[in-house]
Amino acid sequence: MKIIKAKTKCAVCGKESEQEVACSSHTIGAKKHLDCRHDNGQVNAPIQECPHCHYANIDISRLSENAKQVYASVKYQEILNSKFDDKIKNYLKAALVNEKDKEDCTAQLYLYATWCFEDEKDYKNATKYRKMAYKNLIKIAEKEDNRGIYIQCIDLLRKSKEFDKAKELLVKVRLDLFNTDLRTKLTDEYIAIINIVKLEEKLIANKDSADHLLEESEARMSFVDFKGLFLLYSNFLSHTASSIYVPIIYQMKDEYFNAVVKYLRTGKQENLVYRSFSTNGIINSYRPEKVDYIQAVIILDNIEKLGDDGYFVFRPHIIE
Ligand SMILES: [Zn+2]
Repeated sequence: MKIIKAKTKCAVCGKESEQEVACSSHTIGAKKHLDCRHDNGQVNAPIQECPHCHYANIDISRLSENAKQVYASVKYQEILNSKFDDKIKNYLKAALVNEKDKEDCTAQLYLYATWCFEDEKDYKNATKYRKMAYKNLIKIAEKEDNRGIYIQCIDLLRKSKEFDKAKELLVKVRLDLFNTDLRTKLTDEYIAIINIVKLEEKLIANKDSADHLLEESEARMSFVDFKGLFLLYSNFLSHTASSIYVPIIYQMKDEYFNAVVKYLRTGKQENLVYRSFSTNGIINSYRPEKVDYIQAVIILDNIEKLGDDGYFVFRPHIIE
């Protein structure tokens, strides 16, 4: 996350102070968690706090609709007087200030506080504020009918050990996914979502409330889905061709399989290399005979799998 400093005028007391402003939410090399946390360690999303009157918000030059009432409320004073560290206090204060008119912002602020509590191993408060985040997020999910947010909600419920509620929501998302048309079912986004749903299903069945990473869900697409993709987008139009090629490709190692999937989806031919052989080399050497990219990947895979005999699979320079 890129952070710059800027002079900011407080909307409550009108005094100026230097404040941090986040310019981008991209965190390179960050781990992605199922509850949408991106981190390289600590939660470091900046929150502004006026040093003069202690008003806290994402942007203190802006006054939320009910900021002044919240500011005088018992809840706000409780947080202000709590033993939480300043960063957590600011997230919670800002969440309260935004609660009435900005659900998305409020949910995110409660999540920041939750993750700080998780880092401090204060699981009681982590659960308390995760539930607050959920309360706000589920409203947005329902309003927008947003599948991604529903899935985030499922994870928040699971991590709060509300397995029955998580399962209920999961069934709803599953049904919605099942009723999607075939073309959408072959998109990256759909496959990623299905994989997360399958992982959540497994975790909920095991009553697992631990934190889990998104990468655990990145399984290979099913054989049936891959066959559908091949039939839709490959140059091999017959069912015979699909019966020959699809199982061969499906059993190749990830690097080759993923390259074929990318080619089918986008038409991009990634040059795969094994020793002195490559897919580009194979395609060029066989000219004017036409070798499809998929065939070139299979030839390269054959060379690799045959070991020493692999050198006899493809030797156009000897034939010449
Ligand atoms: Zn102020």
